[in-house]
Amino acid sequence: MFREKEGFLSALKGKLPARKECENGMLQKIRLCKKCYNRTGIKCLIADPYDCFICSGILWKIDEIADDIVKSLDGYEFETFLIGSRIHGSLKAIEDYLKLEEEKSLKYQFNKELGREIEIRTGKKLSFKNPDVTIVYDLENLNYSIYIKPLYIYGRYKKRVRGLSQTRWLCPKCNGKGCLLCNWTGKKYVSVEELISEPIREFVMGTDAVLHGAGREDVDARMLGNGRPFIVEVKNPKRRCIDLRELERLVNENCRGKVEVLNLKLAEAKDIEFLKSARFKKIYRVKVLFGRDLSDDEIRRAIEELKNRDIHQRTPLRVLHRRSDLLRVRKVYDIELLFLRRNIAVLRIEADSGLYIKEFISGDQGRTRPSLSEVLNVEARVEKLDVIRIEGGL
Ligand SMILES: [Zn+2]
Ligand SMILES: [Zn+2]
Repeated sequence: MFREKEGFLSALKGKLPARKECENGMLQKIRLCKKCYNRTGIKCLIADPYDCFICSGILWKIDEIADDIVKSLDGYEFETFLIGSRIHGSLKAIEDYLKLEEEKSLKYQFNKELGREIEIRTGKKLSFKNPDVTIVYDLENLNYSIYIKPLYIYGRYKKRVRGLSQTRWLCPKCNGKGCLLCNWTGKKYVSVEELISEPIREFVMGTDAVLHGAGREDVDARMLGNGRPFIVEVKNPKRRCIDLRELERLVNENCRGKVEVLNLKLAEAKDIEFLKSARFKKIYRVKVLFGRDLSDDEIRRAIEELKNRDIHQRTPLRVLHRRSDLLRVRKVYDIELLFLRRNIAVLRIEADSGLYIKEFISGDQGRTRPSLSEVLNVEARVEKLDVIRIEGGL
């Protein structure tokens, strides 16, 4: 539809009023639609819109385009939207050549008019700031794409049982297809992610949902107390105006007591960054087995020695196959003895986020120093681990 535009370009390079050379060698005046005439100021013949050299009438089809877009958005809840447009090919060549002020450009006019028509049809607001829906129209190919902003739901989760991974964990043998090893489930563990995010995805009618946690606990550790902050990100949600208390009830029903969510609220994409980078202090409760019986005095002296110490940890042997070997330093603030009988103790440990507790107890063959095992000079290992408090959140 734009095949004559190269001729138009060379005509523009000559004197205005612009002329283009016809196939028979005759000169002929440029024809533009009223809208393109008004915005470019080129002296020309006013033509029927669909004969316009620049827009080929696209600026006159905005009603039709708006109707179509509104139809595509049917079923999606949104408050704000933004229109963008793309030009390329000969259309871009002409617009670049004209060097118009931004407000006179084809893109600007098109976006403005289409935005206004969609506002009229939907009652929703055009917004440049983080819109719920973005429509990008391709002015050369006459089609468009719609981007729906994901919905972010923040909350805290408790994990009351051991043996759940935080995020989806596929069966290593079949890689999700299902086999004898995984009992045809395709996964190695049931995950907190699927228990929480699946009912949320369904509730807001999205296409996919991902859980972002503020750190993670081991599969065999419970997460109790005030719960761990998380954000579920749902892609392409149809619903945005939701009753969060109702959603909370539904999720907890789905989790059947294994996992519980609390304080659900709406969040933004930037909050994920904050959760991922924040260093929230944590409190743990650990049951420790020692290589021999210990006296109350002995363990209390060891605890005093370890309080407020920087702990140097090389990546634990148990995760070395999937993480690089680094040295990290984390602080232990407080340790309290809750229970001691013969070679079994229960401790409450307050530490920086990211401290590997199991290795802080066992010493991990000298890779974590100092450790409880080292200070007591006895073998020690964690039998049970619970996170009982995480400071901070949104
Ligand atoms: Zn035009
Ligand atoms: Zn399998």
